[in-house]
Amino acid sequence: MSKTKYIFVTGGVTSSLGKGIISASLAKLLQDRGYRVTIQKLDPYINIDPGTLNPYEHGECFVTEDGAETDLDLGHYERFLNIPTSQANNVTTGRIYQAVINKERKGEFLGKTVQVIPHITDEIKHRIQILGNTGEYDIVITEIGGTVGDIESLPYVEAVRQLKWEMDSNDIMVIHLTLVPYLAAAGELKTKPTQHSVKMLMQSGVAPDVLVCRTERPLNDNIRKKLALFCNVDTNSIIESIDAETIYDVPNLMLKEELDKVVLKKLDLKSKSEPKLKRWNEFLQRFKNPKNTVEIGLIGKYVELHDAYKSINEALIHAGAVNETKVNIHWIHSENLTEENVPEKLKNLNGIIVAPGFGGRGIEGKIKAVQYARENKIPFLGICLGMQMAVIEYARNVLGYKDANSVEMDIDTTHPVINLMEEQKEITNKGGTMRLGAWDCKLEKDSKSFSVYKKELISERHRHRYEFNNDYLEDFKKAGLKIAGKNPKTGLVEIIEVSNHPWFIGVQFHPEYKSTVLNPHPLFVDFVKASLC
Ligand code: GLN
Repeated sequence: MSKTKYIFVTGGVTSSLGKGIISASLAKLLQDRGYRVTIQKLDPYINIDPGTLNPYEHGECFVTEDGAETDLDLGHYERFLNIPTSQANNVTTGRIYQAVINKERKGEFLGKTVQVIPHITDEIKHRIQILGNTGEYDIVITEIGGTVGDIESLPYVEAVRQLKWEMDSNDIMVIHLTLVPYLAAAGELKTKPTQHSVKMLMQSGVAPDVLVCRTERPLNDNIRKKLALFCNVDTNSIIESIDAETIYDVPNLMLKEELDKVVLKKLDLKSKSEPKLKRWNEFLQRFKNPKNTVEIGLIGKYVELHDAYKSINEALIHAGAVNETKVNIHWIHSENLTEENVPEKLKNLNGIIVAPGFGGRGIEGKIKAVQYARENKIPFLGICLGMQMAVIEYARNVLGYKDANSVEMDIDTTHPVINLMEEQKEITNKGGTMRLGAWDCKLEKDSKSFSVYKKELISERHRHRYEFNNDYLEDFKKAGLKIAGKNPKTGLVEIIEVSNHPWFIGVQFHPEYKSTVLNPHPLFVDFVKASLC
């Protein structure tokens, strides 16, 4: 078996340069060349995982098949590569320290003083190599969160330095993503910030092999040569990453700049086949040449920060492309929706999504939006909390249980139609304790969901503590709410549908996590299609 090769992606100058997209784009090209590639993200914060972080802080929490609550970049990795990630693909400083401290408590360090070097860096190196050691990947790309020079990132950069020292030079490489700003007053692109950030990296003993330069304007030969000379890399290792219309253009831009070729050469790998990106480009073709437009309302409480709903946004892009339709998302704050303004605010929408969420803020607005979609026969997709809101709306307005609620919002409701799951009742810790990851769901053959998925047994990812209260099952059924899918083992209701409605589906799971460019999610595809009618 050939050795796994390691690529590290660091960032300099500023945050938000898009290390995740560059990593995913490079991985896509290497995958298209016939290599088995995965991507890992190292996050330098102390939280064990982003599961307990407010979406305003960190954007969406992405959930993997194995139930890890992870950084939203893992969503990009999956959407680009079309293969699942796992807990091993996201490591935080908190998790590293937790592992080291647990070992210390067990006496595993045999009386030694436990230190950042070597103990923390050893644990980082171990986590980096876990994916390579599975034998499942030829190449592991590891993205180091944060910006070079941050105090928090230092142990990670030191771990990379050590690995570079330990490994053969053609088994490991570093790509540094940097910014080359354009100064309008001077009429020039400026290389100095890049020079400084490379210097910073080199002070930690790590010399980059490739510079990927984010820029608003093309890099001319002079700039490339200057960057190469001052930063000590080959001129063909200066890769321009110009602002793109969509993140999905980036693999093609990197292909044009030959980033993949430079990487293969450095890692002494043969090209198995030329990247064609055939299906990828078919998607782009459809995405960029829509024949129709559809207006979709996304009702949530974190709408100011679109990253909080990243996977839903991307799933709608994938679904739009399948339908050759431009999906215009209207970000609607549920806190601003009232009985009086709902018709005005929602009247131009072709489809309505009520988003996932936690806690009581904005839920009455969500319930009003559900009611509007149900009564006006507007295609509706309720995701997780959105499904729970649909159940509450039905209980209140169809069954007449006026104070029906979820016990998450009102512990004293006389009609707890959404209840805390039995196994959650004893849990007090907040982190990593929800019902997480992939669970099976069996669909009713005569349901809309079955006609969408075209199979009986599906598996979807979850992240919740509350569930449909089965004590009310018969009441709901009699009143026309269809239980379209259940967990085959526990009977937990996974999907509800409103029977006398053209397209009304609420799902306890998160379909958005599984939508990829090459595998758009059927629920989103059909939802967009229904919204077109
Ligand atoms: N707050 C709800 C629950 O815990 C819904 C969670 C979600 O939307 N992800 O069940």
